[in-house]
Amino acid sequence: MKIERVDHIGVAVNSIDAALKFFRDTLGLKLEGSETVAEQKVTTAFLPVGDTEVELLQSTAPDGPIAGFIEKKGEGVQHIAFVVDNIEEALKEMEAKGIRLIDKVPRMGAGGKKIAFIHPKDTYGVLVELCQKI
Ligand code: ZN
Repeated sequence: MKIERVDHIGVAVNSIDAALKFFRDTLGLKLEGSETVAEQKVTTAFLPVGDTEVELLQSTAPDGPIAGFIEKKGEGVQHIAFVVDNIEEALKEMEAKGIRLIDKVPRMGAGGKKIAFIHPKDTYGVLVELCQKI
Protein backbone atom coordinates (compact mmCIF):
# COMPACT_ATOMS: atom_id res chain seq x y z
CA MET A 1 0.00 0.00 0.00
CA LYS A 2 1.31 3.41 -0.89
CA ILE A 3 -0.25 6.56 0.53
CA GLU A 4 0.56 9.34 -1.94
CA ARG A 5 -0.81 12.45 -0.25
CA VAL A 6 -3.74 13.93 1.66
CA ASP A 7 -6.51 14.28 -0.92
CA HIS A 8 -8.88 16.28 1.21
CA ILE A 9 -10.08 17.04 4.71
CA GLY A 10 -13.82 16.60 5.19
CA VAL A 11 -15.55 19.17 7.38
CA ALA A 12 -19.15 18.57 8.49
CA VAL A 13 -21.22 21.76 8.51
CA ASN A 14 -24.86 22.63 9.00
CA SER A 15 -24.82 24.92 5.98
CA ILE A 16 -22.30 25.09 3.15
CA ASP A 17 -23.49 28.61 2.33
CA ALA A 18 -22.79 29.76 5.88
CA ALA A 19 -19.39 27.97 6.01
CA LEU A 20 -18.32 29.59 2.72
CA LYS A 21 -18.31 32.92 4.53
CA PHE A 22 -15.23 31.67 6.37
CA PHE A 23 -13.53 29.21 3.99
CA ARG A 24 -14.08 31.24 0.80
CA ASP A 25 -14.66 34.82 1.88
CA THR A 26 -12.26 35.02 4.86
CA LEU A 27 -9.55 32.49 3.92
CA GLY A 28 -9.83 33.36 0.24
CA LEU A 29 -10.08 29.77 -0.96
CA LYS A 30 -11.79 29.20 -4.29
CA LEU A 31 -14.99 27.19 -4.47
CA GLU A 32 -14.18 24.71 -7.21
CA GLY A 33 -17.43 22.81 -7.33
CA SER A 34 -20.32 21.29 -5.50
CA GLU A 35 -21.93 17.90 -5.85
CA THR A 36 -24.74 15.98 -4.18
CA VAL A 37 -24.14 12.29 -3.53
CA ALA A 38 -27.75 11.12 -3.05
CA GLU A 39 -26.77 7.67 -1.78
CA GLN A 40 -24.78 9.26 1.07
CA LYS A 41 -27.41 11.97 1.71
CA VAL A 42 -24.75 14.63 1.44
CA THR A 43 -23.89 17.70 -0.58
CA THR A 44 -20.17 18.41 -0.87
CA ALA A 45 -18.30 21.56 -1.83
CA PHE A 46 -14.62 21.45 -2.74
CA LEU A 47 -12.12 24.24 -2.06
CA PRO A 48 -8.59 23.41 -3.26
CA VAL A 49 -5.55 24.29 -1.12
CA GLY A 50 -2.38 23.45 -3.04
CA ASP A 51 -2.74 19.82 -4.07
CA THR A 52 -5.23 19.04 -1.34
CA GLU A 53 -8.74 20.31 -0.69
CA VAL A 54 -11.16 21.27 2.00
CA GLU A 55 -14.38 19.31 1.48
CA LEU A 56 -17.42 20.86 3.12
CA LEU A 57 -20.16 18.33 3.86
CA GLN A 58 -23.78 19.25 4.42
CA SER A 59 -26.47 16.64 5.06
CA THR A 60 -29.41 16.50 2.68
CA ALA A 61 -31.57 14.56 5.17
CA PRO A 62 -31.98 14.47 8.96
CA ASP A 63 -31.07 10.74 9.00
CA GLY A 64 -27.91 11.06 6.89
CA PRO A 65 -24.43 10.21 8.24
CA ILE A 66 -23.33 13.86 8.33
CA ALA A 67 -26.45 14.88 10.27
CA GLY A 68 -25.68 12.05 12.71
CA PHE A 69 -22.07 13.18 13.09
CA ILE A 70 -23.08 16.79 13.82
CA GLU A 71 -25.72 15.65 16.29
CA LYS A 72 -23.09 13.67 18.24
CA LYS A 73 -20.00 15.84 17.90
CA GLY A 74 -21.05 19.18 16.47
CA GLU A 75 -19.67 20.77 13.31
CA GLY A 76 -16.00 20.14 12.57
CA VAL A 77 -13.42 17.85 10.96
CA GLN A 78 -15.25 14.65 10.02
CA HIS A 79 -12.68 12.69 8.00
CA ILE A 80 -9.25 12.75 6.37
CA ALA A 81 -8.87 11.30 2.88
CA PHE A 82 -5.63 9.81 1.58
CA VAL A 83 -4.87 9.05 -2.05
CA VAL A 84 -3.60 5.50 -2.54
CA ASP A 85 -2.09 3.99 -5.65
CA ASN A 86 -4.37 0.91 -5.56
CA ILE A 87 -7.45 1.08 -3.34
CA GLU A 88 -8.47 -2.59 -3.64
CA GLU A 89 -4.98 -3.70 -2.62
CA ALA A 90 -4.86 -1.19 0.25
CA LEU A 91 -8.17 -2.48 1.63
CA LYS A 92 -7.00 -6.10 1.44
CA GLU A 93 -3.74 -5.22 3.16
CA MET A 94 -5.50 -3.36 5.98
CA GLU A 95 -8.01 -6.15 6.50
CA ALA A 96 -5.16 -8.67 6.66
CA LYS A 97 -3.61 -6.51 9.41
CA GLY A 98 -6.85 -6.68 11.42
CA ILE A 99 -8.10 -3.16 10.68
CA ARG A 100 -11.89 -2.97 10.50
CA LEU A 101 -13.25 -1.57 7.27
CA ILE A 102 -16.53 0.27 6.78
CA ASP A 103 -16.32 -0.41 3.04
CA LYS A 104 -14.80 -3.75 2.11
CA VAL A 105 -15.11 -2.85 -1.54
CA PRO A 106 -14.68 0.68 -2.88
CA ARG A 107 -17.69 2.69 -3.98
CA MET A 108 -18.09 5.78 -6.10
CA GLY A 109 -17.61 9.07 -4.29
CA ALA A 110 -17.76 12.71 -5.33
CA GLY A 111 -15.42 13.86 -8.08
CA GLY A 112 -15.34 10.52 -9.93
CA LYS A 113 -13.17 8.77 -7.36
CA LYS A 114 -13.29 5.29 -5.90
CA ILE A 115 -13.51 5.68 -2.13
CA ALA A 116 -13.63 3.49 0.98
CA PHE A 117 -13.85 4.31 4.67
CA ILE A 118 -11.84 2.68 7.48
CA HIS A 119 -13.46 2.19 10.88
CA PRO A 120 -12.49 5.01 13.29
CA LYS A 121 -12.30 2.52 16.20
CA ASP A 122 -9.08 1.23 14.61
CA THR A 123 -7.66 4.61 13.58
CA TYR A 124 -7.47 6.54 16.85
CA GLY A 125 -10.83 8.18 16.31
CA VAL A 126 -10.04 9.59 12.89
CA LEU A 127 -12.44 8.51 10.18
CA VAL A 128 -10.01 7.68 7.34
CA GLU A 129 -11.10 7.67 3.72
CA LEU A 130 -8.96 6.06 1.05
CA CYS A 131 -9.47 7.26 -2.48
CA GLN A 132 -8.16 6.63 -5.95
CA LYS A 133 -8.88 8.63 -9.07
CA ILE A 134 -10.17 6.50 -11.93
ZN1 ZN B 1 -14.22 12.73 1.58
